[in-house]
Amino acid sequence: MTPQYVAAIDQGTTSSRCIVFDRAGEIVAVAQREHRQIFPRPGWVEHDAEEIWDNVQQVVEEALRTAGTDAAGLAAVGITNQRETTVVWDRATGRPVANAIVWQDTRTGPLLRELASTYGEERFRTRTGLPLATYFAGPKLRWLLDEVDGLRERAERGEVLFGTMDSWLIWKLTGEHVTDVTNASRTMLMDLTTLDWAPDLLDAMGVPAAMLPEIRCSAEVYGRATTGVLARVPVASALGDQQAALFGQTCFQPGEAKCTYGTGSFLLLNTGASPVPSTHGLLTTVAYRIKGQPPAYALEGAIAVTGSLVQWLRDNLGLISTASEVEELARTVDDNGGCYVVPAFSGLFAPHWRSDARGVIAGLTGYITKGHLARAVLEASAWQTREVVDAMNADSDVALRRLRVDGGMTANGLLMQFLADVLDVPVVRSRITETTCLGAAYAAGLAVGFWPDLATLRAQWRSDAQWEPAMDPELRDRELGQWRKAVRRTLDWVE
Ligand code: ADP
Repeated sequence: MTPQYVAAIDQGTTSSRCIVFDRAGEIVAVAQREHRQIFPRPGWVEHDAEEIWDNVQQVVEEALRTAGTDAAGLAAVGITNQRETTVVWDRATGRPVANAIVWQDTRTGPLLRELASTYGEERFRTRTGLPLATYFAGPKLRWLLDEVDGLRERAERGEVLFGTMDSWLIWKLTGEHVTDVTNASRTMLMDLTTLDWAPDLLDAMGVPAAMLPEIRCSAEVYGRATTGVLARVPVASALGDQQAALFGQTCFQPGEAKCTYGTGSFLLLNTGASPVPSTHGLLTTVAYRIKGQPPAYALEGAIAVTGSLVQWLRDNLGLISTASEVEELARTVDDNGGCYVVPAFSGLFAPHWRSDARGVIAGLTGYITKGHLARAVLEASAWQTREVVDAMNADSDVALRRLRVDGGMTANGLLMQFLADVLDVPVVRSRITETTCLGAAYAAGLAVGFWPDLATLRAQWRSDAQWEPAMDPELRDRELGQWRKAVRRTLDWVE
């Protein structure tokens, strides 16, 4: 039987899912399973990597069953994953030595302050494109090496292996210990230019090279699955989730950008074949690398709180009972009534990177209703995007001309219009909103020749809605000024 499908595994922060795609890039079947969020102490977030592996096996089985196919029907399987989450496992038994430390975990704060004072922030930023922040994988690995009994000695003897979730799954599926460039670019251990582990950064971080995976392309065959329902299927891509969404949105040309609006929001701009350093608070990262081709780089603006602010309105304030009701409530008023919400719940990410910031509701008067609050909540996502876009335009020579969007919040038409208004560029929603899985599937299908080239993938992209900017420029500037004033009120809060 000629394979008709490509499967993608999306190992996300709250769940794992598997989607089967056909040759036209259409969804044939979806299966999803949530895993436990483990909070041992305030600021600590862990996952059980074994539980995740069990879930991945189950969702793959279920998706194949729903699609009415089996391993023989799949040309390849691709992987996309929550980035930066760190796991170490025993090479002989395949058992994790501890729970995985999740990207949101802030336990490495003191370690980062120590690294900053010993080596200086710039030492890492110039080589890796990343600021010293708890977000990234390298410091999490260092924490495990310091805190798990005997782990450093075992790492030096090559008895234990490090990986982000892509490596963990590829190892479980094929027995190969590899990672892809996009995931490696989030460790603070990879040199952005050589695309290899940097010996001096490993020394500075105190990480033995023997435990690291080999860095490979994002689209290439790493091996074939050895057991289970995927037995003999080529495992042929790995991409961090946001890079996968960029790939799924087919942003293959420099100057093309996408923003994914979920719990948080992540704007990635393809900057082409060389890394563009940021002087305005963005991350420089690898966008993807197809085997046999030069890498593509991206500038990234990571915003911690967007959709989760809508959840907060629903769960903590009880002003709405479902996320989509926020639009109806916001439409009960004509504007924000002078009210601004800056959701710096755990500090501000891009472009500010201020861990001392905390959220504010600014401009409260007796006039403000829950409708104004709902509007301000939605506007916060747009203004945070505007700040990231301004930083991008300042960092790169190519100004953003339009923005492709995906993710749960893009169902909100009021927000999408406001976004086009404040960015002053058209906002285009793709028809397939599962761009993360689609990107992993596309990369895997390219690697095995299921799709011939990038042009074919581009031709498959379809928009389902577009919003044109329509705001009076004076009003936009005035509102931007108010937003910036509200952001300043969040700073210097935590002593
Ligand atoms: P993730 O992949 O990060 O879990 P999703 O892409 O599934 O996120 O989007 C879910 C987020 O989008 C939630 O935070 C939810 O509050 C928000 N959301 C969902 N529907 C709407 C809507 N109609 N308007 C505004 N926000 C929404």
